[in-house]
This record gives sequence, structure tokens and C-alpha cells, in this order.
Amino acid sequence: MSQKRIAIFGSTGSIGTQALEVIAANTDKFSVEVLTAQTNDELLIQQALHFNPNVVVIGDERKYQKVKDALSKTDIKVFTSESALEEVAAMDIYDLMLAAIVGYAGLKPTLQAIENGKPVALANKETLVVAGDIVMQKALENRVPVIPVDSEHSAIFQCLVGETRNKIEKVILTASGGPFRGKKPNFLVNVKRDHALQHPNWTMGAKITIDSATLMNKGLEMIEAKWLFNLKPDQIQVVIHPQSIIHSMVQFEDGSLKAQMGLPDMKLPIQYALGFPYRIQNDFPRFNFKSVSTLTFEEPDVKTFRNLGLAMEALAKGGNMPCILNAANEIAVYAFLRNRIGFLDMTEVVEQTMNRISFIESPTLEEYYDTDGEARSFAASLIQM
Ligand code: NAD
Ligand code: MG
Repeated sequence: MSQKRIAIFGSTGSIGTQALEVIAANTDKFSVEVLTAQTNDELLIQQALHFNPNVVVIGDERKYQKVKDALSKTDIKVFTSESALEEVAAMDIYDLMLAAIVGYAGLKPTLQAIENGKPVALANKETLVVAGDIVMQKALENRVPVIPVDSEHSAIFQCLVGETRNKIEKVILTASGGPFRGKKPNFLVNVKRDHALQHPNWTMGAKITIDSATLMNKGLEMIEAKWLFNLKPDQIQVVIHPQSIIHSMVQFEDGSLKAQMGLPDMKLPIQYALGFPYRIQNDFPRFNFKSVSTLTFEEPDVKTFRNLGLAMEALAKGGNMPCILNAANEIAVYAFLRNRIGFLDMTEVVEQTMNRISFIESPTLEEYYDTDGEARSFAASLIQM
């Protein structure tokens, strides 16, 4: 079998670095052709020298010269500029894009990969939250598979293998509940950045860790599931499962439930997406029935974790509402991470932005871009007050 050539967009992040660990352990199966980073030049240089890609992109233009100098003795091409990510995504130098950029910034390069006919292993859930209808339509037109990396969606995807003729009754997304499970607003109002960055079961990038603490992450994942698996909003349920052993479930028309289980380790869904349709042998730790004797389930507390409720509203409303929700949430999360607003203020910013920005039932791609810009400016204006 020849090597699959991988382009990692967002290689210096939590998903990107774990993907490189998977690739390093399987150099017979994969080569690295593209690495991109926004600001972390040191790590990008280190990765490039180790994996010898065809191209690297450093987003921050001030760091371009340093990266270029560090790689001057190699054949690696170095790009920077706003359009560089899309230009590289359009090149015919890779077989699969791992979309591991965080936030809205991942949308355009991913669309470009799809238009370029390249399969996408999608970690960047915001891409589907913002413009899922257009992304999936383009994937269909270009016959490009979109393989989920998000652990819940990877679980559902794995449960659906061999079930193409069978109707899904519903999917059940599991959620750990995050670090503040069981807490009430009088506790959450005082939560600070460093506490919210401690997740009980997963180590992830800062933005998704905050989204997990507010349960916005699960709301974004409901919207992601709608587009990946072509579901109606009422076919998507969330259940709190604090052990994070069941990664999600599918219930079929006959009432049968299929679950995908394992230890919480993102390397597993990353490896599955890179290797699909093949599973790859590895030495990751195995689940031990003696150390986890109980699996428990609870209803999510949407009264306390109102972000999940807002995301459910956006899911039900459709149109550009999830795009508005996402833009406001990105602004709110980064403001919280800079200690500019409190934990519960994030919900206020999202709710007020959803109430303010004009609703569009069936937006064009341009209208999604405009909606994102308008929602960001409005959300930012709320924070300056
Ligand atoms: P991270 O913050 O650790 O890494 C983000 C990567 O994107 C970095 O390489 C960074 O350089 C790049 N980046 C950031 N802003 C950029 C911009 N404006 N333009 C171009 N590149 C930019 O994030 P992460 O935790 O690895 O998450 C990446 C994506 O995967 C997110 O969408 C997240 O929701 C999703 N995801 C992550 C996990 C996880 O365990 N970390 C699990 C499921 C899904
Ligand atoms: Mg997830």
C-alpha cells in the first residue's frame, strides 16, 4: 500500500500534534505534505524539520522570515499571507486534509480542499456549524468524503459502518458534563479562566476546553451531527455520561442501540479518520473493566448551562442562526480567556447577538461570511461596554 499524503491544517494544536504522533508511529502508511500554524513558529519549525513536508504555512506574517531562515537548508516551501491557507489547500500535493484549525478560520481552507476533490478528516466542528449545508452540498457534488474526527461523531460514524440501508431513529451524543457538572449559577458566576481550563477527562485546546465547561461544545456538536449524518433536530439527543467511555450511540428503527466505546484518547478517532476505511494496530492503553465498574447517565442541566439551550434553539431555527451563535461564542470565549468577562457573561453575549443579527433562512456563502462579520462586531461591542 502506498503512503497516504496528509495535509495538517493546524498542526501545532492539540489535534495537530496528536495526529503527528499517530503519523510518526505509522510512517509506512502516511507521509506529511503540509503543516500550518498561526503563531507557534518554534513548534512549526521543529515539526517541519522532523517530518519534511512539501509546504508549511505560518499565519503570523511577522514570523515568516524566521521560519524561512530556519528551513533554508531544506526544500520545504514556506508561505504566509491571508490567502496562503486556501492556496495551499487548492494544490495537488496531498491525498487527505486533516482540518484541525480552531474556529471559523478553518472554514475557507476546508471548502477549498473539498473543491479540490480531497477527502477531509474534520476536527474543526465550527466549519459545519457556520455553513454545514453548503459544505456538505459541495462535498456531495465533488464526491468527497468528510470523515469526522470529533470523538462523538467518529463514534456515530463507526456505528453506521455496514448500516447504509437502515434508517437512524436518533443519535445520542454523550457529554462528560465538563468540570462544573452539578454546579449552579451561584457557583458559575465566580468561575475564573484557570479553573475552567481544567477538564476532567480530556486535554484539549483552550477554546474547546471553555466550550466544554459551558456545554456550548455539545451544542456545536449537535449542529455538527445534523450536517454529517443528515438528521432532523429532534433526532439528536444529548446525555451526560461522566466516565467518557461510551463516545456516542446510534438508535435504529428497531430500537437497537449501537455504541462505540473505549478510553478517552483523541488519538483513536484521529487515527481512525486518517486510516479509514482501515483500522490500524496500536499500543494505546486498553479499557480495563476492573478500573471502571460503572457507567452512569444523566440529563443535561440546560437551565444552568444555558449555552446548550441556545445552541439547541439555533439548531431548531436553522438558516444563519448557528453561524451567529458561533461567531458570538468565539468572541465571548476569547474575552473570557483574557479575563475581560465572567463565565456567565459568555451566555449573555451569545443570546443578545442571536437576538440582534438579521435572520436569513437560506443564506448563500457570502451571506454566511457577512453574518459572521456582523455578529462578531456586535458581540465585541457588547464586551467593550
Ligand atoms: P488548538 O487551539 O490546540 O489548535 C488550533 C490550531 O489552529 C493551531 O495549530 C493554530 O496555530 C491554528 N490556528 C488557530 N487560529 C488560527 C487562525 N486564525 N488561522 C489559521 N490557523 C489558526 O485547538 P484544538 O484543540 O486542536 O482544536 C482544533 C479543532 O478541533 C477545533 O475546532 C476543536 O473544536 C476540534 N476538536 C478538538 C478536540 C481536542 O481534543 N482538542 C476534540 C474534538 C474536536
Ligand atoms: Mg467532541
